[in-house]
Amino acid sequence: MAHAIKFHPGMSLLEQFAEGCLSADVALAVAAHIDLCPHCQQLHNDVTADLASQVLLQPVKADNTDWNAMLSNIVANTDMSQQDKPQAERPQQLIEVSQRQFELPRALRRLGANHGKWLHLGGIATAKLPTGNDHHVSLLYISKDTEVPQHTHLGLEMTLVLAGKIVDENGEYHAGDLLINSPDDTHTPRTMADEDCLCLSVLSAPLHFKKGLTRLLNPLQQFFY
Ligand SMILES: [Zn+2]
Repeated sequence: MAHAIKFHPGMSLLEQFAEGCLSADVALAVAAHIDLCPHCQQLHNDVTADLASQVLLQPVKADNTDWNAMLSNIVANTDMSQQDKPQAERPQQLIEVSQRQFELPRALRRLGANHGKWLHLGGIATAKLPTGNDHHVSLLYISKDTEVPQHTHLGLEMTLVLAGKIVDENGEYHAGDLLINSPDDTHTPRTMADEDCLCLSVLSAPLHFKKGLTRLLNPLQQFFY
């Protein structure tokens, strides 16, 4: 990878991930980041080992049902390949959009095989990933030299750059970088003239576009959510 990853989930999210207490969609973004980020792979292994040793240090109770449940929970979370087990479909390693092919991180390959139809709007394309959970999870493709209109967030927005580069008012994000935006953040993500971009997008509520006519922005809101 040409650029070092600068934007990570943070220790608290990694711990919650290891404990299995994140919602499945947020966990998906964290798992995909870990696939791409050696630094967080190491942290994840450390956190998981810590959790396991905490469990092992606890005295075994007469009724050790809880202990077994906790242990199997940790084991299930440690083995991330577990999440990639093919169900009906074979996992999909490559994804094609706008005559471009991208490799998906391991954590996204099973869902990637079942992605929804690509919807195109200007230089932007989205395809839903069928997680069946509360959040809206999609792949987001942005062609070269294209801007996503300025928006704020009605909920949490997680964007994991899978390939290429995007920039916004706050910085520059390369493959592996995870952006987490809350309702207070306003930004205008765009690609540069020389490079397109594929992202994973996890939204807990629709984007809220700030500029232009409401009647034009409403369809835009639906497009992204
Ligand atoms: Zn990381």
